[in-house]
Amino acid sequence: MIPYAKHQINDDDIRAVTKSLKSNNLTQGKEVKLFEQDLKKFCNSKFATVVNSCTSALHISCLALDLKRGDYLWTTSVSFVASVNCGLYCGAKVDFIDINLNNYNIDVGALSKKLQKAKLKKKLPKIIVVVHLGGEPCEMRKIFELSKKYKFKIIEDACHALSARYKKHKIGSCKYSDITTFSFHAIKNVTSGEGGAVLTNNQVIADKLKLLRSHGISFEKKFFVKRRFKILPTHYEQIMLGYNYRMTDFQAALARSQLKRLKEIVKKRQKIVEYYNSAFKDLPLIPQVLDLKSKSGYHLYILRIETKKTNKTRLQLVNYLNKNNIQVGFHYIPIFTHRYFKSFRMNEKDFSNTEVFSKTAFSLPLYNQLSKKNLRYIVKIVKDFFKK
Ligand SMILES: *Cc1c(COP(=O)(O)O)cnc(C)c1O
Repeated sequence: MIPYAKHQINDDDIRAVTKSLKSNNLTQGKEVKLFEQDLKKFCNSKFATVVNSCTSALHISCLALDLKRGDYLWTTSVSFVASVNCGLYCGAKVDFIDINLNNYNIDVGALSKKLQKAKLKKKLPKIIVVVHLGGEPCEMRKIFELSKKYKFKIIEDACHALSARYKKHKIGSCKYSDITTFSFHAIKNVTSGEGGAVLTNNQVIADKLKLLRSHGISFEKKFFVKRRFKILPTHYEQIMLGYNYRMTDFQAALARSQLKRLKEIVKKRQKIVEYYNSAFKDLPLIPQVLDLKSKSGYHLYILRIETKKTNKTRLQLVNYLNKNNIQVGFHYIPIFTHRYFKSFRMNEKDFSNTEVFSKTAFSLPLYNQLSKKNLRYIVKIVKDFFKK
């Protein structure tokens, strides 16, 4: 079976992890600090906080932006569930915005309309989480302008978009957002097994993130309670409610080693995407529309079957691919259609694009070491299907 995604570990990675395992720190040592520096430099942001997953990254991002019970967090309808769960962890109310049918990111027109309505009802969101689906950047300038008008904060869930660029700006530079988060889960473009990061240019937010990552514990004297006896040099105090969201040092070593070859990785993935796109040109398949002025992270290869041009169905195609040992993914079913969100009453009219996407989209295999032979095979099988 050709999987739709697969991690890649090379000898350099193994050497880096082994070296870290033989060092004095298994957690929060030199590698974590260096990884934070590497990320800042790579993304062109002022601060980076490395954590144990992007789910944790999103959680502490919401906390650092003061999301509280009763506040609103909005996100796109099509993403992984973590994009919205961060709001629920904080007791916030959550809501969704339709996608556009070009790149399947949050639809700025729908967002703008919803904000207008929400203002009248005095139910404006405190945070909007935007997701660069498959690595293709959202329309950040427009979303940023809306954030100034309606006074909300922006978190970029950039799990698919490490190395991507919005116009001239690296994703992670937070040019048009308050915070950007990344994941280093096994199937992402760079992996640490499990892992995540939060990037920001705001010192206050960055300080809070570091505290939240590790129990809310501070080693800074200025925060300590005054005591009648002398404290020891090892003294620390919990000054807010935090978590243990730390990444281990050997995970950071792995991610650093992978980050070094990210350019190569993304180039390889881009080539695969371009190969697919030109091979499918004359088939009733619609690829994700990429903005030529920006650059995708090429994390997923999402297609839609053009139902107006063929009588064949998506299910028939997926079954045919599976029968021929090709795994197909689906990124993603709308978050509010998961059982857990059953009680969320969504107005179907507001999600017409999401519905089209749900009925027509699927993802073909895309990973660094996908061989030319397998790539050609996948294309052949897809073409055979439409010839039948
Ligand atoms: C992978 C992913 C997450 C979650 O990341 P973890 O590191 O697995 O917690 C969140 N959002 C999106 C869009 C993702 O793809």
